[in-house]
This record gives sequence, structure tokens and C-alpha cells, in this order.
Amino acid sequence: MSKMQLDIVTPEKIVYSDQVDMVITRAANGDIGILPKHAPLVSPLQITAVRVKKDGQEEQIAISGGFIEVRPDKVTILAQAAEFAGDIDVERAKRAKERAEERLAKSEGDLARAERALKRALNRLEVAQSANK
Ligand code: ATP
Repeated sequence: MSKMQLDIVTPEKIVYSDQVDMVITRAANGDIGILPKHAPLVSPLQITAVRVKKDGQEEQIAISGGFIEVRPDKVTILAQAAEFAGDIDVERAKRAKERAEERLAKSEGDLARAERALKRALNRLEVAQSANK
């Protein structure tokens, strides 16, 4: 089966760089599944999981928004932050979720910012679960 290069990059580091079979993620307009030879595309990404399929294995990476660029032989994801499922600190994400929920419950401060923090925390908790399957 033909493969494509996947690079996931944050302002801090290269999180992932390898040849893969398929990438599934959530772009601004909905879920996209990308196989090699996909049509070129640029899109914002939501706070979401990136599911990477390679040699019959799947792994998930939590990303906190960013952009995806697809070319027939290469997918590049530029993300604010990205963590492998197994590297996610679940207790930290739970604390972030509680803080955001408190701010939203009290309607305190910048609510759009609290919503985004909540989304990041929920996304991390969901992706972390995939590491235990
Ligand atoms: P927190 O309030 O816990 O810092 P946050 O959503 O505000 O969460 P970010 O600003 O998105 O955090 O990320 C800051 C850095 O911390 C990034 O490098 C990110 O990968 C890392 N990070 C954030 N939360 C976690 C977590 N639960 N487990 C592992 N790394 C995390």
C-alpha cells in the first residue's frame, strides 16, 4: 500500500514525522479522512484528535487547533499544541476542565476563552482514553 509523509509541528517541536497510511481528523467543516494521493487542501483544524493509521496500527494525537495542508504525498499539521495519547497528563486535563467549568458556571471573565480551555481539556481526556484501549 502506498504511504504519505505526515508531519505534525508545534511552535516548540516536531511532534511527528513519519510515513503513514491514513490520517483522520476534524477540519473546520467536518471530519476528513486522508489517503495518499488526496487532492490538495488547506483548512483550519478544530480542537480535535488526529488519528494516524500505519501498518495496521492506529494512534491518536490531541491537537489544540491549527491548520492542515494536504498534498498528494504529504500532510502537514501546524498545531498550537499536540500530545500523543500516552503522554497526556490526565489529572492535569481534569483540573483544566474543572477550572474552565467553574468560570463558565459563574459567567466569569472571558467566556469564549473558557470554552476553548474546556474543549482542549475534553479533547485531551478523550484522546488519553484511546491509549488504554
Ligand atoms: P493547562 O491549563 O493545564 O496548562 P492548557 O489547555 O491551557 O492546559 P495549552 O496552553 O494548550 O494548555 O498547552 C501548554 C503546553 O502544555 C503545551 O506544550 C501542551 O502540549 C502541554 N499540555 C497542556 N495540557 C497537557 C496535558 N494534560 N498533558 C500533557 N501536556 C499538556
